[in-house]
Amino acid sequence: MHALDQLHPLTERIFWLPADSRTDRPMLGLVVGNRECLLIDAGNSPAHVGLLRNAIQAQAMAQPTCLAITHWHWDHVFGAATLNLPSYASQETNRILQVLATLDWGDAALDQRVADGLEIAFCRDMIKAELADRSQLQIVTATTTIEQQLTLDLGNCAAELIVVGGDHAHDSMIVYLPSQAVVFLGDCIYDDLYHGSRRLTTSQLFPLLERLLALPADYYCASHHEQPLTRSEFEAEAQLLRHIGTIVSQLGPDPEAILTQISQQLATPLTEDHHEIMQAFLAGLALPEVKSIY
Ligand SMILES: [Zn+2]
Repeated sequence: MHALDQLHPLTERIFWLPADSRTDRPMLGLVVGNRECLLIDAGNSPAHVGLLRNAIQAQAMAQPTCLAITHWHWDHVFGAATLNLPSYASQETNRILQVLATLDWGDAALDQRVADGLEIAFCRDMIKAELADRSQLQIVTATTTIEQQLTLDLGNCAAELIVVGGDHAHDSMIVYLPSQAVVFLGDCIYDDLYHGSRRLTTSQLFPLLERLLALPADYYCASHHEQPLTRSEFEAEAQLLRHIGTIVSQLGPDPEAILTQISQQLATPLTEDHHEIMQAFLAGLALPEVKSIY
Protein backbone atom coordinates (compact mmCIF):
# COMPACT_ATOMS: atom_id res chain seq x y z
CA MET A 1 0.00 0.00 0.00
CA HIS A 2 1.42 3.38 -1.00
CA ALA A 3 1.18 6.24 1.53
CA LEU A 4 -1.69 8.47 0.40
CA ASP A 5 0.02 11.71 1.41
CA GLN A 6 3.29 11.13 -0.42
CA LEU A 7 4.49 11.50 -3.97
CA HIS A 8 5.80 8.25 -5.38
CA PRO A 9 8.39 8.09 -8.17
CA LEU A 10 7.42 6.19 -11.32
CA THR A 11 10.30 7.19 -13.62
CA GLU A 12 13.15 9.68 -13.45
CA ARG A 13 10.76 12.56 -14.21
CA ILE A 14 7.35 11.29 -13.14
CA PHE A 15 5.75 11.19 -9.70
CA TRP A 16 2.24 10.33 -8.58
CA LEU A 17 0.03 11.06 -5.58
CA PRO A 18 -2.28 8.08 -4.96
CA ALA A 19 -6.05 8.17 -5.38
CA ASP A 20 -8.13 8.17 -2.20
CA SER A 21 -11.48 6.43 -2.61
CA ARG A 22 -12.88 7.77 0.69
CA THR A 23 -13.82 11.04 -1.03
CA ASP A 24 -13.13 9.91 -4.61
CA ARG A 25 -9.84 11.78 -4.93
CA PRO A 26 -8.17 10.76 -8.20
CA MET A 27 -4.48 10.02 -8.64
CA LEU A 28 -2.52 13.18 -9.51
CA GLY A 29 0.56 13.06 -11.73
CA LEU A 30 3.58 15.34 -11.77
CA VAL A 31 6.01 15.55 -14.71
CA VAL A 32 9.24 17.35 -13.92
CA GLY A 33 10.86 18.89 -16.99
CA ASN A 34 14.01 21.03 -16.96
CA ARG A 35 11.90 24.19 -17.33
CA GLU A 36 8.29 23.40 -16.51
CA CYS A 37 6.58 21.08 -14.08
CA LEU A 38 3.27 19.74 -15.38
CA LEU A 39 0.52 18.65 -13.00
CA ILE A 40 -2.02 16.17 -14.35
CA ASP A 41 -5.47 16.94 -12.93
CA ALA A 42 -6.30 19.62 -10.42
CA GLY A 43 -7.56 17.54 -7.51
CA ASN A 44 -11.07 17.57 -6.08
CA SER A 45 -10.78 20.44 -3.58
CA PRO A 46 -8.46 23.09 -2.12
CA ALA A 47 -7.63 20.53 0.61
CA HIS A 48 -6.53 18.01 -2.01
CA VAL A 49 -4.31 20.69 -3.59
CA GLY A 50 -2.91 21.44 -0.12
CA LEU A 51 -2.02 17.77 0.38
CA LEU A 52 -0.23 17.76 -2.97
CA ARG A 53 1.67 20.98 -2.24
CA ASN A 54 2.80 19.65 1.15
CA ALA A 55 3.96 16.38 -0.39
CA ILE A 56 5.96 18.29 -3.02
CA GLN A 57 7.51 20.53 -0.37
CA ALA A 58 8.38 17.59 1.88
CA GLN A 59 10.43 16.13 -0.98
CA ALA A 60 12.04 19.49 -1.78
CA MET A 61 10.67 19.36 -5.31
CA ALA A 62 9.50 22.21 -7.53
CA GLN A 63 5.81 23.16 -7.38
CA PRO A 64 3.83 22.72 -10.63
CA THR A 65 3.98 25.51 -13.22
CA CYS A 66 1.22 24.26 -15.53
CA LEU A 67 -1.82 22.00 -15.41
CA ALA A 68 -3.51 19.51 -17.74
CA ILE A 69 -7.16 18.67 -17.02
CA THR A 70 -8.18 15.25 -18.32
CA HIS A 71 -11.99 15.77 -18.26
CA TRP A 72 -14.78 17.83 -16.71
CA HIS A 73 -15.74 15.65 -13.71
CA TRP A 74 -15.69 17.51 -10.37
CA ASP A 75 -12.98 15.37 -8.78
CA HIS A 76 -10.51 16.38 -11.51
CA VAL A 77 -11.27 20.13 -11.60
CA PHE A 78 -12.45 21.52 -8.25
CA GLY A 79 -8.84 22.28 -7.20
CA ALA A 80 -8.04 24.30 -10.35
CA ALA A 81 -8.97 27.77 -9.01
CA THR A 82 -6.70 27.25 -5.97
CA LEU A 83 -3.81 26.18 -8.20
CA ASN A 84 -4.29 29.21 -10.47
CA LEU A 85 -1.89 27.91 -13.18
CA PRO A 86 -1.70 28.18 -16.96
CA SER A 87 -3.82 25.19 -17.91
CA TYR A 88 -4.82 22.92 -20.81
CA ALA A 89 -8.07 21.10 -21.50
CA SER A 90 -10.04 19.91 -24.50
CA GLN A 91 -12.53 22.35 -26.05
CA GLU A 92 -15.40 20.22 -24.79
CA THR A 93 -14.01 20.18 -21.25
CA ASN A 94 -13.91 23.95 -21.23
CA ARG A 95 -17.42 24.23 -22.66
CA ILE A 96 -18.77 22.06 -19.83
CA LEU A 97 -16.68 23.84 -17.17
CA GLN A 98 -18.35 27.08 -18.26
CA VAL A 99 -21.72 25.47 -17.52
CA LEU A 100 -20.54 24.09 -14.15
CA ALA A 101 -19.27 27.52 -13.15
CA THR A 102 -22.83 28.91 -13.38
CA LEU A 103 -24.36 26.23 -11.10
CA ASP A 104 -25.21 26.53 -7.43
CA TRP A 105 -23.17 23.92 -5.49
CA GLY A 106 -25.01 24.32 -2.16
CA ASP A 107 -26.68 21.26 -0.54
CA ALA A 108 -30.23 22.12 -1.63
CA ALA A 109 -29.32 22.79 -5.27
CA LEU A 110 -27.17 19.67 -5.44
CA ASP A 111 -29.98 17.52 -3.98
CA GLN A 112 -32.41 19.03 -6.49
CA ARG A 113 -30.12 18.22 -9.42
CA VAL A 114 -29.90 14.60 -8.21
CA ALA A 115 -33.72 14.48 -7.96
CA ASP A 116 -33.96 15.90 -11.50
CA GLY A 117 -31.51 13.33 -12.85
CA LEU A 118 -28.89 15.96 -13.70
CA GLU A 119 -26.36 14.86 -11.10
CA ILE A 120 -25.63 11.42 -9.72
CA ALA A 121 -26.05 10.55 -6.05
CA PHE A 122 -22.54 9.10 -5.75
CA CYS A 123 -20.91 12.38 -6.84
CA ARG A 124 -23.26 14.45 -4.66
CA ASP A 125 -22.33 12.36 -1.61
CA MET A 126 -18.61 12.53 -2.38
CA ILE A 127 -18.74 16.30 -3.00
CA LYS A 128 -20.44 16.77 0.38
CA ALA A 129 -17.87 14.53 2.10
CA GLU A 130 -14.86 16.27 0.49
CA LEU A 131 -16.13 19.85 0.67
CA ALA A 132 -18.45 20.45 3.62
CA ASP A 133 -18.33 24.20 3.01
CA ARG A 134 -18.70 25.10 -0.66
CA SER A 135 -19.49 28.79 -0.21
CA GLN A 136 -16.04 29.74 -1.56
CA LEU A 137 -15.97 27.12 -4.32
CA GLN A 138 -14.87 28.56 -7.65
CA ILE A 139 -14.90 26.66 -10.92
CA VAL A 140 -12.53 27.99 -13.57
CA THR A 141 -11.93 27.10 -17.20
CA ALA A 142 -8.56 26.14 -18.66
CA THR A 143 -6.49 28.98 -20.16
CA THR A 144 -5.72 27.01 -23.37
CA THR A 145 -8.06 24.65 -25.18
CA ILE A 146 -7.05 21.74 -27.37
CA GLU A 147 -8.99 20.58 -30.40
CA GLN A 148 -7.25 17.25 -30.92
CA GLN A 149 -3.63 17.26 -29.83
CA LEU A 150 -0.95 19.56 -28.47
CA THR A 151 2.70 18.90 -27.59
CA LEU A 152 4.19 20.80 -24.65
CA ASP A 153 7.94 21.18 -24.25
CA LEU A 154 8.61 20.99 -20.51
CA GLY A 155 12.39 21.25 -21.03
CA ASN A 156 14.05 18.08 -22.29
CA CYS A 157 10.73 16.34 -21.85
CA ALA A 158 7.75 16.49 -24.19
CA ALA A 159 4.17 16.00 -23.04
CA GLU A 160 1.59 15.08 -25.64
CA LEU A 161 -1.95 16.07 -24.73
CA ILE A 162 -4.29 13.96 -26.85
CA VAL A 163 -8.10 14.21 -26.90
CA VAL A 164 -9.46 10.66 -27.03
CA GLY A 165 -13.07 10.79 -25.75
CA GLY A 166 -14.65 7.48 -24.71
CA ASP A 167 -17.66 6.17 -22.78
CA HIS A 168 -16.71 7.69 -19.41
CA ALA A 169 -16.64 11.31 -20.61
CA HIS A 170 -16.75 12.33 -24.26
CA ASP A 171 -14.28 15.19 -23.58
CA SER A 172 -11.50 12.95 -22.19
CA MET A 173 -7.87 13.80 -22.87
CA ILE A 174 -4.79 11.71 -22.07
CA VAL A 175 -1.23 12.86 -21.37
CA TYR A 176 1.51 10.80 -23.02
CA LEU A 177 5.15 11.27 -22.05
CA PRO A 178 7.15 9.59 -24.84
CA SER A 179 10.59 9.97 -23.20
CA GLN A 180 9.28 8.35 -20.02
CA ALA A 181 7.07 5.77 -21.77
CA VAL A 182 4.15 6.70 -19.50
CA VAL A 183 0.50 7.48 -20.25
CA PHE A 184 -1.86 9.26 -17.86
CA LEU A 185 -5.31 8.02 -18.84
CA GLY A 186 -7.51 10.15 -16.62
CA ASP A 187 -10.75 8.13 -16.39
CA CYS A 188 -11.05 7.42 -20.12
CA ILE A 189 -11.15 3.61 -19.87
CA TYR A 190 -13.88 3.59 -17.20
CA ASP A 191 -17.61 3.28 -17.75
CA ASP A 192 -20.14 6.09 -18.16
CA LEU A 193 -21.83 6.97 -14.86
CA TYR A 194 -23.89 9.91 -16.05
CA HIS A 195 -26.60 8.40 -18.27
CA GLY A 196 -28.53 6.01 -16.03
CA SER A 197 -27.09 2.50 -15.49
CA ARG A 198 -23.31 2.44 -15.80
CA ARG A 199 -22.50 1.80 -19.46
CA LEU A 200 -19.70 0.64 -21.70
CA THR A 201 -19.96 0.32 -25.47
CA THR A 202 -17.78 -1.77 -27.74
CA SER A 203 -17.99 1.00 -30.37
CA GLN A 204 -16.30 3.54 -28.08
CA LEU A 205 -14.10 1.37 -25.88
CA PHE A 206 -12.55 -1.06 -28.37
CA PRO A 207 -10.97 1.54 -30.72
CA LEU A 208 -9.86 3.53 -27.67
CA LEU A 209 -8.08 0.52 -26.14
CA GLU A 210 -6.41 -0.14 -29.47
CA ARG A 211 -5.23 3.46 -29.68
CA LEU A 212 -3.86 3.36 -26.14
CA LEU A 213 -2.09 0.03 -26.62
CA ALA A 214 -0.50 1.34 -29.83
CA LEU A 215 1.45 3.88 -27.75
CA PRO A 216 4.86 2.45 -26.88
CA ALA A 217 4.34 2.87 -23.12
CA ASP A 218 5.65 0.91 -20.13
CA TYR A 219 3.12 2.34 -17.64
CA TYR A 220 -0.56 3.36 -17.81
CA CYS A 221 -1.94 5.51 -14.98
CA ALA A 222 -5.73 5.30 -14.55
CA SER A 223 -6.95 7.94 -12.10
CA HIS A 224 -8.94 5.74 -9.73
CA HIS A 225 -6.70 2.69 -9.77
CA GLU A 226 -4.59 2.12 -6.65
CA GLN A 227 -1.33 2.46 -8.55
CA PRO A 228 0.02 2.81 -12.08
CA LEU A 229 -0.38 -0.29 -14.22
CA THR A 230 2.56 -1.90 -15.96
CA ARG A 231 2.10 -2.49 -19.66
CA SER A 232 1.31 -6.17 -19.13
CA GLU A 233 -1.23 -5.36 -16.39
CA PHE A 234 -2.93 -2.85 -18.70
CA GLU A 235 -2.92 -5.38 -21.54
CA ALA A 236 -4.61 -7.90 -19.25
CA GLU A 237 -7.31 -5.38 -18.24
CA ALA A 238 -7.87 -4.42 -21.86
CA GLN A 239 -8.06 -8.09 -22.84
CA LEU A 240 -10.72 -8.80 -20.19
CA LEU A 241 -12.81 -5.80 -21.29
CA ARG A 242 -12.58 -6.84 -24.93
CA HIS A 243 -13.37 -10.43 -24.09
CA ILE A 244 -16.55 -9.67 -22.14
CA GLY A 245 -17.62 -6.90 -24.53
CA THR A 246 -17.32 -9.28 -27.48
CA ILE A 247 -19.35 -12.02 -25.76
CA VAL A 248 -22.10 -9.52 -24.83
CA SER A 249 -22.27 -8.19 -28.38
CA GLN A 250 -22.46 -11.75 -29.77
CA LEU A 251 -25.07 -13.10 -27.36
CA GLY A 252 -27.19 -9.98 -26.81
CA PRO A 253 -29.23 -9.37 -23.65
CA ASP A 254 -28.98 -12.86 -22.13
CA PRO A 255 -26.99 -12.56 -18.86
CA GLU A 256 -27.05 -16.29 -18.04
CA ALA A 257 -25.68 -17.35 -21.42
CA ILE A 258 -23.08 -14.59 -21.23
CA LEU A 259 -21.88 -15.62 -17.76
CA THR A 260 -21.63 -19.26 -18.82
CA GLN A 261 -19.62 -18.27 -21.85
CA ILE A 262 -17.31 -15.99 -19.83
CA SER A 263 -16.51 -18.65 -17.25
CA GLN A 264 -15.95 -21.29 -19.95
CA GLN A 265 -13.69 -19.11 -22.07
CA LEU A 266 -11.70 -17.59 -19.22
CA ALA A 267 -11.56 -20.89 -17.30
CA THR A 268 -11.67 -18.99 -14.01
CA PRO A 269 -14.39 -18.57 -11.37
CA LEU A 270 -16.56 -15.51 -12.03
CA THR A 271 -15.85 -12.44 -9.92
CA GLU A 272 -17.81 -9.31 -9.12
CA ASP A 273 -15.62 -7.55 -11.66
CA HIS A 274 -16.83 -9.87 -14.43
CA HIS A 275 -20.46 -9.20 -13.43
CA GLU A 276 -19.96 -5.43 -13.37
CA ILE A 277 -18.26 -5.36 -16.76
CA MET A 278 -21.02 -7.54 -18.25
CA GLN A 279 -23.76 -5.31 -16.77
CA ALA A 280 -22.06 -2.21 -18.18
CA PHE A 281 -21.81 -3.71 -21.69
CA LEU A 282 -25.44 -4.91 -21.43
CA ALA A 283 -26.52 -1.35 -20.56
CA GLY A 284 -24.42 -0.17 -23.49
CA LEU A 285 -26.46 -2.28 -25.94
CA ALA A 286 -29.39 0.10 -25.48
CA LEU A 287 -29.55 3.85 -25.87
CA PRO A 288 -28.75 5.86 -22.71
CA GLU A 289 -31.62 5.87 -20.18
CA VAL A 290 -30.98 9.45 -19.21
CA LYS A 291 -30.03 12.47 -21.28
CA SER A 292 -27.27 14.53 -19.73
CA ILE A 293 -27.43 18.33 -19.79
CA TYR A 294 -23.71 18.27 -20.54
ZN1 LIG B 1 -14.41 10.93 -14.33
